[in-house]
Amino acid sequence: MASTLSEQQLSPLRQQLLNWFAEEKRDLPWRKTDEPYAIWVSEVMLQQTQTRKVLEYYDRFLQKFPSIRALARAELDDVLKAWEGLGYYARARNLHRAAKEIVASHGAKIPADYDTLCQINGIGPYTAAAVSSIAFGQPKAVVDGNVIRVLSRLLLIDKNPKEKSTKASISESAQRLLDTTAPGDFNEAMMELGATICTPRKPKCLLCPISDFCQAYQKLEDPSRLPVKPPKRNVPHFNLAAALIWDEGFVFINRRQENGLLGGMWEFPGVKLENGQSPQEAIKQEMLEDINLEVEVGDFFMEVKHAYSHFKITLHVYHCLFKDGEPRLTTATDWRWVKPNELKYYAFATANKKVINKLEAEYVPALRASRSG
Ligand code: SF4
Repeated sequence: MASTLSEQQLSPLRQQLLNWFAEEKRDLPWRKTDEPYAIWVSEVMLQQTQTRKVLEYYDRFLQKFPSIRALARAELDDVLKAWEGLGYYARARNLHRAAKEIVASHGAKIPADYDTLCQINGIGPYTAAAVSSIAFGQPKAVVDGNVIRVLSRLLLIDKNPKEKSTKASISESAQRLLDTTAPGDFNEAMMELGATICTPRKPKCLLCPISDFCQAYQKLEDPSRLPVKPPKRNVPHFNLAAALIWDEGFVFINRRQENGLLGGMWEFPGVKLENGQSPQEAIKQEMLEDINLEVEVGDFFMEVKHAYSHFKITLHVYHCLFKDGEPRLTTATDWRWVKPNELKYYAFATANKKVINKLEAEYVPALRASRSG
């Protein structure tokens, strides 16, 4: 049964949380800037991604695209390349799209206001709340996975937070709890608490600055029972085959459509295997139908296993020899014949990247050796 905080509790809770944040916050590069663009980039990168991983990308991305104008001017390919390996590529496409709109319609100045930010194509409610509060001090609470966890425990919310009504009541509670005199710090403090103290497993309640107010800490033996986990879904698994089509030392790659999973990323052409279908047969048929290339399927190259957020794949990769045809694309949007050592200039998602790593390890040194010999 969810509880609420009394008016008298709000002020000391806010103060304790803000004091703790001032003393204990991690030293992170996006906390050293008040530049809205840099804050925006960090907030987009941090969604569904661990801080440790974002640290590998953040500075490099800002060096490559130091301003909103630079980002808006860039080719999507270059933005995806800078994002390569960070996952959830729709974020990069949305960032790029929104940058163009801000340059075109807002004179390259990020709007401060939450509602105006929400109207920009590519900026969702979380990002709008984070940017408007952290960069501009607007009184808008952010609600991400960390905040949901802290609030579920603090207020003993024993309902699935993915349900619409529970989500709405968590947002309301977050807004009520927000310290409107320091909304940016308060939002960051809530997220920091969730990331470092009120963690999914084994929350460190003895170190928690708001344990005096926490209903889960006081009433449950194990506060990590909350938030309520949604019922487990079976994660589907798909078998795919991918073709390394070779023609005189060049390999064929094509680019995915911009919308949808891995949109705009480059890949080796592939096919989903239906029940019992052999990879060789499927590749031969699909290459003809989908990219108009006749190929001879040769040796098995490698198998790649990869987990996406909602499904898993096993990719069976085969060498193929180009026989005939001019590339004509059905679903992809662009194509190239490239040398193995040029693959690094294109943005590939992780499963294909594993293929490239093996190719680079085996073929690029072999190419160098044959050149010097
Ligand atoms: S007391 Fe424990 S469960 Fe409650 S907010 Fe703090 S860390 Fe989370």
